[in-house]
Amino acid sequence: MNVKAPRGTNDILPPLSLQWQYVEKVYRDLMAVYNYHEARTPIFEYTELFQRGIGDTTDVVEKEMYTFTDKGGRSVTLRPEGTASIVRAFMENKLYGQSLPVKFYYIGPMFRYERPQAGRFRQFHQLGVEVFGSNDPALDAEVIILGINYLNKLGLKNLQLYINSIGCPECRKEYFRVFRTYLEDYHDVLCKDCQGRLERNPMRILDCKEESCSKAVKEAPRVLDYLCDDCREHFEEVKVYLNNLGLDYIIDPNIVRGLDYYTNTVFEVKYAGLGAQDTVLAGGRYNGLAEELGGKAVPGVGFAMGMERLMLTLEKESAELPGEPDLDLFIVTIGDKAKKAAFKYIYQLRNKGYISEIDYMERSVKSQMKAADRMNAKYTVILVEDELCKGKAILKNMQNGEQMEISLDNLVEEIEEYIK
Ligand code: ATP
Ligand code: MG
Repeated sequence: MNVKAPRGTNDILPPLSLQWQYVEKVYRDLMAVYNYHEARTPIFEYTELFQRGIGDTTDVVEKEMYTFTDKGGRSVTLRPEGTASIVRAFMENKLYGQSLPVKFYYIGPMFRYERPQAGRFRQFHQLGVEVFGSNDPALDAEVIILGINYLNKLGLKNLQLYINSIGCPECRKEYFRVFRTYLEDYHDVLCKDCQGRLERNPMRILDCKEESCSKAVKEAPRVLDYLCDDCREHFEEVKVYLNNLGLDYIIDPNIVRGLDYYTNTVFEVKYAGLGAQDTVLAGGRYNGLAEELGGKAVPGVGFAMGMERLMLTLEKESAELPGEPDLDLFIVTIGDKAKKAAFKYIYQLRNKGYISEIDYMERSVKSQMKAADRMNAKYTVILVEDELCKGKAILKNMQNGEQMEISLDNLVEEIEEYIK
C-alpha cells in the first residue's frame, strides 16, 4: 500500500494508546476532584471565530490554520486550539446565567499547519481547562495549581513554573509607548515577523525565538513595571496564593500572550529536557475575549497542554506508565467441540470481568501455550475434545507451574476461586 498518513500526524496504537488512556484518566479524575466538567465542542468552526478569538496577528491565524470552504461556500477551520470554541459555546448557550464560575475541561485533537519537527505536529492533542465568570485571583492560582498538581500526579518533578502579568489594555497603553520607543534603536536587527509585530502586536516580540530578537529585548522595559494599581494588586494576590502553598515559580517578564483580550496573569510550565519546544503547559487570563467575540464581558482563565509533549516528557523522566494488561486466562482448545465450549466459558468469564482469550488461528497446542505466554496469561485451561465427556479439565498456574483438576460443570466458578 502506498497511501501514507498525512505529514505531521501520528497513529496512536497499543501499547501507546493505553498510556494515553491512562494519562487522560488521571486528568479526568483530578478534574472531578477540582469540580471541573468536560466540554466537547465541534472539531471545526467558522473561520471567523478563530480569527477573532486567537487574533489576526498571531502565527496561528496568519500561517497555521487548516481553513477550507465547505460545499455551502462557508469558510470553516479545523480548530487550532480549544479556548475560542469553549468561549463561543459558553456565550451561545447563555451559561453566564448559571451559577458562576463555570469550570470546564477538554481533551481532544487540534490542527495547525506547521513544519513538523520534534514536539510539533499538524494534528496534535491538548488537555485544557477554562474557567468563566470570575476575576478572582484565587482562580488564577487554582488553575496554575491544578496544572502542576496534574503533572506531579503523573510523576513529573523536574518542571519549572514561569509566571508573569501583562496587565490590562489600560496599563498597556503607556507600556506600549515606552516599549516602542525602546525598540526604535533595534528596528533593523529584529526578524521580519517582529518588524511587523512592532505596530500591531509588539508584546509578541518578547517571546520571539529568534536570537537577534531575544537579544534586542534583553534590556527592554517590562510590562510588570507599568501595571495599574488594580492589575498590580491582582498579581500580588495570585502570588500570595501560590506562596501559601509553597509553590516554586520564576517571574519571567518575557512570557506574554500579546493580544488585547489577554489580561493579567500568564504562565508556562517548562521541562528543560525537551529541547527547543520545551513548554508543556501554557495559560493565562483572558478577561476581554468574550466581548471580543461579540458577547458580554465575561472574565476567563485557563491553560492548555500538549499531549504529545507531555508523553515525551513522561518518557524522558522514565515515569511509570501502564502497558497492555496481563491476561487472566487463556483457554487452549483441541478440536471443534472444545472450541465451542471454550467460547461459551470465556463469554461467562469476560462477563465477570476476567481478561480472557482463546485461539482464533487454529494453532497447535504448543503454539497456543506460547501465545498464552506471550500475553502473560496468569492461568491456562486445556480443553480436549475427546476428554470433554469425562467432565474434567486441567487449570494451570502459569507463574508457578502448578496444575489443578477442575470440573466442567462448575468451570467458571472454580476458575474464579483461583484467579481471585
Ligand atoms: P510553541 O511555542 O511551541 O509554538 P504555542 O505558543 O503555539 O507553542 P499554545 O498555542 O500556547 O502553543 O498551545 C499550548 C500547548 O500546546 C503548547 O505548549 C504545546 O505543548 C502544545 N502545542 C502547540 N502547538 C503544537 C504542535 N504543533 N504540536 C504539538 N504540540 C503543540
Ligand atoms: Mg506555535
